[in-house]
Amino acid sequence: MYLCDSHIHSEFSFDAEVPVEEMVKQGIANNLKVMTITDHCDAVAIGETDNEFGVVLEKSIPASVKETKRVAKLYEDKIKVLAGVELGEPTHFPDKTQIALNMADYDFILASTHEVRGREDFYFLEYTRGNVDTLLSEYFNEQLEVVKWNGFDSLAHFDYPARYIYEKTDIKPDYTKFNNIIDEILKILSENNKALEVNTSTIQKPLGRTTPGLDILKRFKSFGGKLITLGSDAHTKEALGQDLDKGIELIKSAGFTSYCYYENHQPVSVNIVKD
Ligand SMILES: [Zn+2]
Ligand SMILES: [Zn+2]
Repeated sequence: MYLCDSHIHSEFSFDAEVPVEEMVKQGIANNLKVMTITDHCDAVAIGETDNEFGVVLEKSIPASVKETKRVAKLYEDKIKVLAGVELGEPTHFPDKTQIALNMADYDFILASTHEVRGREDFYFLEYTRGNVDTLLSEYFNEQLEVVKWNGFDSLAHFDYPARYIYEKTDIKPDYTKFNNIIDEILKILSENNKALEVNTSTIQKPLGRTTPGLDILKRFKSFGGKLITLGSDAHTKEALGQDLDKGIELIKSAGFTSYCYYENHQPVSVNIVKD
């Protein structure tokens, strides 16, 4: 299989420690063909000179891109390495988002929602039968804002809160309540010819599947969606490229014949059916 991992964190993310070059050596060992480094840039934190994580984005993100390009050149005969960013909460403060977009020359912008206005990251929230629908509703409303904003290449981990709902509780959220807004998000994404990410980091977690799962992938396809990116969301060497093969099987079973990675914001197609 031709494996391209388009969601990888390095030491330039607040929650990861592996140098880019170490990740790339691991990628070569794992027989990855393409790796895109996407360090965290939560746009809300632009302008913070000090925070709990000790990361100043105006320094860490340009450094991530610069180091990625250096390493890319060094290993170009073995693997293609591309410079991306995981841009969090891009619609909260448009001015900060613009600064983030101008900070470096990216190949790929992966948009994500880790928190909604007025709340902490879904990682930190407490979930109860009484609040889970409210939290999901707020989440999908922000996803809708993000796709309307449209300043990205691919939409990350479509149902991110599910990671933590399944990890922390035995609640199984009923997505049928959100069918209308989910369909609206998927329609806008496909009409704008943007990609949907298949994130494999949760296959071996309590959720037991990719984000999004098969149903949402099929619906994206039914609305004319064509572009899928694939990412392990690795924060460690061990997690690099994990379950990408399973992700590809899922993309196939949703009816797609290819997935893609991005170079200079252009999708490069990877065929996944035998010819
Ligand atoms: Zn994320
Ligand atoms: Zn990530």
